[in-house]
Amino acid sequence: MQSVDVIIVGASLAGAAAAKRTVDAGLETIILEKKPLPRHKVCSGILSPRGHRFLIENFGPLPRQILHDPTWCRGVTFHFPSMVSISMDFFGGTTPHLHRKYSDYWAVKRSGAEIHDQTSFVSLVDNGNHVIVNARHQGKDIQYRTRQVIGADGPSSHVIRAIYPNYFKQIPWFFVGQKFHEIIDCPLDHEYFHFWFNPDLGHYNWSHARDGRQIIGTGFKRGDNFNQRHNNMLKYLKEKHHVNLHPASEYEGCAENFGPSLINRYVFGKGNVLITGQAAGFLNMIGEGMSCALHSGAIAGEAIIDAKLHALPVQQVYRSMIGSEVCRTSDQWNPLMIAFGKPHEADFPAALLALPWKDRVKVLRDMWRFVVLFKEFKWGRQIAARALQRLWVGKYPNEHWL
Ligand SMILES: Cc1cc2nc3c(=O)[nH]c(=O)nc-3n(C[C@H](O)[C@H](O)[C@H](O)COP(=O)(O)OP(=O)(O)OC[C@H]3O[C@@H](n4cnc5c(N)ncnc54)[C@H](O)[C@@H]3O)c2cc1C
Repeated sequence: MQSVDVIIVGASLAGAAAAKRTVDAGLETIILEKKPLPRHKVCSGILSPRGHRFLIENFGPLPRQILHDPTWCRGVTFHFPSMVSISMDFFGGTTPHLHRKYSDYWAVKRSGAEIHDQTSFVSLVDNGNHVIVNARHQGKDIQYRTRQVIGADGPSSHVIRAIYPNYFKQIPWFFVGQKFHEIIDCPLDHEYFHFWFNPDLGHYNWSHARDGRQIIGTGFKRGDNFNQRHNNMLKYLKEKHHVNLHPASEYEGCAENFGPSLINRYVFGKGNVLITGQAAGFLNMIGEGMSCALHSGAIAGEAIIDAKLHALPVQQVYRSMIGSEVCRTSDQWNPLMIAFGKPHEADFPAALLALPWKDRVKVLRDMWRFVVLFKEFKWGRQIAARALQRLWVGKYPNEHWL
């Protein structure tokens, strides 16, 4: 049985950031990844400016091979059913359009950790002073002995299942899928990521250019019909935006745990097991999850180092340190912060104020109709309560975290 200081589950951005911290501090670290590397990841790949800074500062300049074409994105364009569209540039200039298959592998390799790919985490036993991790590599059972585990294994986290078996039954699940189309004619500006606040299309609808094709994406509550949703979106884009595309040549999709960051119900682990990245519930507005995966991953790694240094329980240290990232992420969904702060990396209030007042009214009305689509999840009161607590005590309370 191999014995190490830290086992990280998931060779993605959260895992790479966590490993960078533990390896730099001299802790022997292994990353387990269930897929062969480099592995595919369903993602638009539009990194926020904050995520971009993190990558450069921690892993160095980004090589061309880890980017799609166009290699960068200027900002986001919001489209509303009243046919008002608002384009907003990212603060600080353009951001990279990551090719997740290669960017994640590049970051993971640069972390300096030992990588065991084609190795699936299966279960664990936390014995207090060490953890036994059970995994499977090419059909064979293997075990590791470690002091701490970091679960950076994404929305359907098996590490969470191992410590909170009932958790996934308690949250709503969404499906997001995207299809790739050769372009006949597409007037949507390819320098922007396009997002539709339209309740008739679904909970999450987007489009952008990639490698000469146009991606049409749609997200909705799990159980609905992907092809039907996608066809509605295509019809809408053709009629309203004159987007003319060939039939899809490829498609992909996955389940998403959208919701925990809106209502401050994160999962940070138990005992010697820390949960981070999207597994913990970090997801920014319009589904941007890479920057908070990177930052929360780094904090998980730092918590292990700090706990060791000061001989403190690692959960206590992690829960205290992660508060800053919770604020950054949950602020993005907090109506008070949206109205009076600047939680996003593009200026929506300024773009709204630049519109004629009649269009402003239309946009606000359309946004309200879109928000009503989420009524069934009963998040409204929880978001309002957390917003007031944030205003009153300056942070989000930790009693709602698992
Ligand atoms: C369609 C779509 C579009 C998106 N677009 C954007 C975007 O433009 N910008 C943005 O910032 N975010 C975007 N996101 C969100 C972003 O992809 C995620 O938030 C981000 O990848 C989370 O990173 P992570 O490191 O926490 O986990 P993940 O990227 O989910 O990685 C988890 C890793 O763990 C591995 N793993 C899982 N189970 C096991 C196991 N049992 N054993 C070993 N390994 C395991 C997986 O194979 C994977 O490599 C998008 C997501 C989707 C679905």
